[in-house]
Amino acid sequence: MRWTSKIAAAALAALLQACVTAPVSAPPPAAASAAETRAPVTILVSIDGFRADYLDRGVTPVLSRLAAGGVTGPMRPSFPSKTFPNHWTLVTGLRPDRHGIVGNKMEDAARPGETFTMSTDDPFWWNGAPPIWTDAEAAGIRTATLFWPGSNVAIGGTRPDPKEWEVEGGARPQDWAQFNQAVSGEQRVNGLLDWLRRPAAIRPKLLTLYFDTVDHVSHDYGPVDPHTLDAVAQVDGWIGQLVAGLADLGQPANLVIVADHGMAATSSARVAQLYEYVAKEDVHVIESGVYAALAPVAGKEDAVGKALLGKHPHFECWRKSEIPARFHFGSNPRVAPIFCLAETGWLLNEKPPAKPFAGGNHGYDNFAPDMAALFIANGPAFRAQRIAAFDNVDVYPLLRDLIGLPAKPGVDGTDAPFRSALRR
Ligand code: AMP
Ligand code: ZN
Ligand code: ZN
Repeated sequence: MRWTSKIAAAALAALLQACVTAPVSAPPPAAASAAETRAPVTILVSIDGFRADYLDRGVTPVLSRLAAGGVTGPMRPSFPSKTFPNHWTLVTGLRPDRHGIVGNKMEDAARPGETFTMSTDDPFWWNGAPPIWTDAEAAGIRTATLFWPGSNVAIGGTRPDPKEWEVEGGARPQDWAQFNQAVSGEQRVNGLLDWLRRPAAIRPKLLTLYFDTVDHVSHDYGPVDPHTLDAVAQVDGWIGQLVAGLADLGQPANLVIVADHGMAATSSARVAQLYEYVAKEDVHVIESGVYAALAPVAGKEDAVGKALLGKHPHFECWRKSEIPARFHFGSNPRVAPIFCLAETGWLLNEKPPAKPFAGGNHGYDNFAPDMAALFIANGPAFRAQRIAAFDNVDVYPLLRDLIGLPAKPGVDGTDAPFRSALRR
């Protein structure tokens, strides 16, 4: 983290800590809310790595109640089922191949020598599509994020090709915070509730909230481990604090609670070795693990193609133009020339495991049941309904409905899965 970000993060942590210990001078929220009938706000909540079936494990009283009283069903992530590509899909309605965040790590020929990672906030990488807060703010709907990948980036300000949309100086939500893992779930909830305590004129109408602990713990212990279920229960408690806080404020809310992907069990007994198939000096590897994204070095294209293309035990490699159509992946210039996908639960690594491990991972085939993600929508806009599996590109059109923006032509999803559950 750069020192400026560290200072911003420390300032935010201090600010949020102040929110946790209630300010003495603030008027009692009940008194403030008694005078006003509030219009519903929309809150998009992401629980990173919350697999769809965690809801059936008996550790989520709050989420299960919200699901029973609202709309719920398994949600298919977009490919690849990684964090940044899917968070960007949820707020743009486009698949990764179209919005340009094609991995947590990537390269672009237009920026030789640079690598995008999860801490890259240069708008160049994010400019492929406007996120929902850009359109909302343009329509006069105030937005706030605590946190969301890309929400700290001044998007649109340096678009190389500003034909379709352009925002002078770049757009962020009016209220945003630099991502900081050290800000606790409780502090995140209290920070968001404090935004809703503001006078109506400066109160956000579309908010996001993000929890990462389930993802961390399930990477370390695996998807069905008791540690993971403890983390799931802890996040359920934070959602309970959110629901209770909203009730105290008299603030109706349409909650859209999602995950970016599920989680598959991995093990040191299921690791394939990339360099048993191809010579290390013949390839430039951008990412490896759940998948390997790589480019042959100049002059080695044929040798690498012969060595890798096709099926191998526990993984398969394609030229980017030949990736199966159901993945909707491979036309973006940022997708590496050769893409090798491990069988769900396997890893394709560059080094043998240093010690035995059992853990979890994601990024696999987005149709694999283990990759299915949580979806719950609950609030005054929704009737209770269980819905069939749907694609996460459909969440963005739903969010537009909820905040009163017209459907956006040309996106990859529609609100069709939710139409019969929406009270218009
Ligand atoms: P992964 O499991 O590798 O796909 O990445 C998930 C991790 O991304 C989470 O555990 C977070 O720590 C991290 N992360 C989430 N949001 C952000 C953000 N806005 N900026 C930087 N890192 C983030
Ligand atoms: Zn994730
Ligand atoms: Zn993860």
